[in-house]
Amino acid sequence: ITVYLNGEYLPLSQAKVSVLDRGFIFGDGVYEVVPAYQRKPFRLKEHIARLVRSLDKVSIQTGKDEAFWETLLTDLIQQSDWEDNYVYLQVTRGVAKRDHAFPNPPVAPTIFAMTCPLKRLTEQERQEGVKALSYPEMRWLHCDIKSISLLGNVLAKQYAVAHGVQEVVQFREGILTEGASSNIWVIKEGVIYAPKRDNRILEGIRYGLIEEFATQLNIPFVEADIAQSFVEEADELLQTSATREVVAITTYNHKPVGKGVPGPIFHQLRQTYDEVLAKL
Ligand code: PLP
Repeated sequence: ITVYLNGEYLPLSQAKVSVLDRGFIFGDGVYEVVPAYQRKPFRLKEHIARLVRSLDKVSIQTGKDEAFWETLLTDLIQQSDWEDNYVYLQVTRGVAKRDHAFPNPPVAPTIFAMTCPLKRLTEQERQEGVKALSYPEMRWLHCDIKSISLLGNVLAKQYAVAHGVQEVVQFREGILTEGASSNIWVIKEGVIYAPKRDNRILEGIRYGLIEEFATQLNIPFVEADIAQSFVEEADELLQTSATREVVAITTYNHKPVGKGVPGPIFHQLRQTYDEVLAKL
């Protein structure tokens, strides 16, 4: 497959980065994941805006404007080996002698991007939903930055895998944050409850999407600090991410959520999602 590295398009096997890259040494970088359907990017502008925000928050200067990112992402999606694909894009602070402080003078950031096949939800996942377990939060307090330092998320996801479930539902001091690689939603008595968009979570591009769908569908949408006990009593639990779109969590801590099958609000959101994708 063809990937992008620092201004060049080249085969994946030829894309090489120095061991002194600050991404490798410190996890000093940010990333984005942009899904594309039939080679059409979904919510491209929102993903680019979040990338620019992440770069700003960690003071990585690329000198690239939004048009640059848009062209890069669209080109890769066009050249992808897969019709449905996603772009993984990462920017690190570049290659420099090992020192925690930023290189001074600054060095060129490392910009890398590739596409991967987008594996849509299986029919079984749509019909039956997925399983999740609660997990005590262990990450830092800048979860709003889409940082490549993902050890907390990696350990959380491995916990899920080791326990035979698809995702964890993380709590910080008893308050719902998010999954290892997704946002989590709680439905109770016809209301969608969302964890507050602050430094404790990454505001997914689907966060805004679910909020829009809720308005369209006249479903009340409330941002709140959600207690662990409230999640246990949920009528429905949902998970969203670029690659998982929206999926119902139907088993939580080994117990059925609601009736143990995807619920009515899931179906409405899922249908709206499908309609939006069909019009891309
Ligand atoms: N939270 C975390 C920790 C994530 O890694 C992701 C990304 O997949 C999300 C939330 C959801 O964000 P998005 O909807 O932009 O994929």
